[in-house]
Amino acid sequence: MQASRKPSSVVASKLPKKHIAAATVIAFCLVVITSLLPSKSVQAKRNIIAVELPSDAQTPNQAVSSTPNTPVSPSDTKSMPTLLHWNKTTIASGDNLTTVFKRLGLNASDVYTVANARNEQKPLRRLRPGEHIAIRLNDEGRLAQVKYTRSSLEHYLYERNENGFEGTKVILQPDLIPTHKTAVINNSLSLAANKVGLSQAKIMELANIFGWDIDFALDIRKGDEFSVLYDEKFLNGKKVGNGDILAATFANHGTTFSAVRFIEQDGSINYYTPDGKPMRKAFLRAPLDFTRISSNFSLRRKHPVHKRIKAHRGVDYAAPRGTPVYAAGDGKVIASGYSKANGNYVFIQHGGKYITKYLHLTKRLTRKGKHVSQGKTIGTVGSTGYATGPHLHYEFLVNGVHRNPRTVKLPDAKTIAKSQRGEFFAQTAPLLNQLSQHNGLLVAQADLRN
Ligand SMILES: [Zn+2]
Repeated sequence: MQASRKPSSVVASKLPKKHIAAATVIAFCLVVITSLLPSKSVQAKRNIIAVELPSDAQTPNQAVSSTPNTPVSPSDTKSMPTLLHWNKTTIASGDNLTTVFKRLGLNASDVYTVANARNEQKPLRRLRPGEHIAIRLNDEGRLAQVKYTRSSLEHYLYERNENGFEGTKVILQPDLIPTHKTAVINNSLSLAANKVGLSQAKIMELANIFGWDIDFALDIRKGDEFSVLYDEKFLNGKKVGNGDILAATFANHGTTFSAVRFIEQDGSINYYTPDGKPMRKAFLRAPLDFTRISSNFSLRRKHPVHKRIKAHRGVDYAAPRGTPVYAAGDGKVIASGYSKANGNYVFIQHGGKYITKYLHLTKRLTRKGKHVSQGKTIGTVGSTGYATGPHLHYEFLVNGVHRNPRTVKLPDAKTIAKSQRGEFFAQTAPLLNQLSQHNGLLVAQADLRN
């Protein structure tokens, strides 16, 4: 079934695996070491007695986004009211500033003054569970500072001045350190990824990058292999999160796809093949949330629900009832209805040439005449109509003729604009180079073990 696939972004062979780039490894280590050394440019901007902060907190007087690694240092004191220790609480579901302040022993007038602090965004009105609020009184028992921590990289500091409170947004810049993971899929994509410490979020990111070429619902095979380079974010030597995928390869059924990140002029992020073709295509290979399909991950795929092969003109995705079904591409809904055979169905027209059809839905979440964009949820998997179990029956028509959506040649995406090519190669060559060096390193290590 897959033999005739010839996607445009196929890379004929794997990246070079022969060189151990020792120099690069040493340079990389140096970068890691130097980035962990404390900077000496300590500059306390306010007169605050250094005291114990809540465990995750940065010192407020370190609120200079360009120097996130500045170590905390006791600053000199002047004749201002002494500040007492921080008192911190975690926001629970249903909390608002009133409930949080009450828990911290503050009163309604404190809530009022802080809620009306001069701050363009009023972030305190949108507290989310898991975030933190810490407060600090002065030795006169008055509320002096409020620190609202959204993440280890983002907080708001409110401080009392003559006019009440004033808030400052503080964004800390983490150190980015590239990391590389690779795995061969033996049982399932998620098991392979877990084994090498790749998070579920990163698997999704990977699948989203390659989801136009690889059908992650039906096409993952034992022996498939991926290699991914991404940034880890560190703050004061402590890991605080992951950055984007920088470059990746995915070998599916003997064909290796490669992708690299490119930051566009407007700051948006897109993925391209190494030769500058967008990974994003006009149609998704699998128009549903593949992570909900257990058979994908176990690789023990159920047989298609329809046994009448001859009459069958689409692909069946066995999936739990309620699994979101996506518009495979941008288009206009030309039918959304119910029939005895199809059950709930949606048909979408994409330009003059293509029509996609989605059958047996539990729910339809769109109407005839609506314009939908690629990836928009148009319904959910069900077993309405002639269906023996919950599945999505998906059809793909080119000029009115049914084609196999898993193998049909899709329109070629345009290569990156000529004016952008210089910038594209400048940005992406180092990333691809790093990825291939890691791949090479791994092969060398395997050789040593043998
Ligand atoms: Zn079917």
